[in-house]
Amino acid sequence: MILDMTPILDAVTDRIPFSFSYRPGEDSVVSALFPDITFSSPISCSGFVSDRAGYMSLHADVSLSYETACARCAEPVTGNLAFSFEKDIADSSVSRDNDDYLFIENQRLDLVDPLEEQLLLELPTKTLCREDCKGLCGRCGQNLNFGDCDCKKHEVDPRLAVLKTLLDK
Ligand SMILES: [Zn+2]
Ligand SMILES: [Zn+2]
Repeated sequence: MILDMTPILDAVTDRIPFSFSYRPGEDSVVSALFPDITFSSPISCSGFVSDRAGYMSLHADVSLSYETACARCAEPVTGNLAFSFEKDIADSSVSRDNDDYLFIENQRLDLVDPLEEQLLLELPTKTLCREDCKGLCGRCGQNLNFGDCDCKKHEVDPRLAVLKTLLDK
């Protein structure tokens, strides 16, 4: 999404709303850094660019859902995420090296770059199918959410083991 900034730069308006949907490509930074996450539906991003007495900024509200594997039990899970972010837009006095700002290029502002950048910060490194996911048995690999495996029964609770040695004396 490239926003035409002409109306703001010409002072015709002080606010340009936008709305677009976006799906990170397979060769995007987002896909490279989060290979386990797939975006089954496009990410929706809406907001506005505003100019307050020459001070320009971007405000964006983002919502998305994604598919991944539960970090504990590896079952497929759908995650939902919503966040907002703001970014200052540089005027001609700001050096191009300054990462804190977005830069206008030929009266146009690229909205995908800042969105991708923010996604990298907001996407979770792990998602659980549920808060209390029991995970997999370390011994037999059974998904313990579906019931206990037999491993537990053969395991002796260390506290009981101590009690047993005391009683045996
Ligand atoms: Zn799980
Ligand atoms: Zn087991």
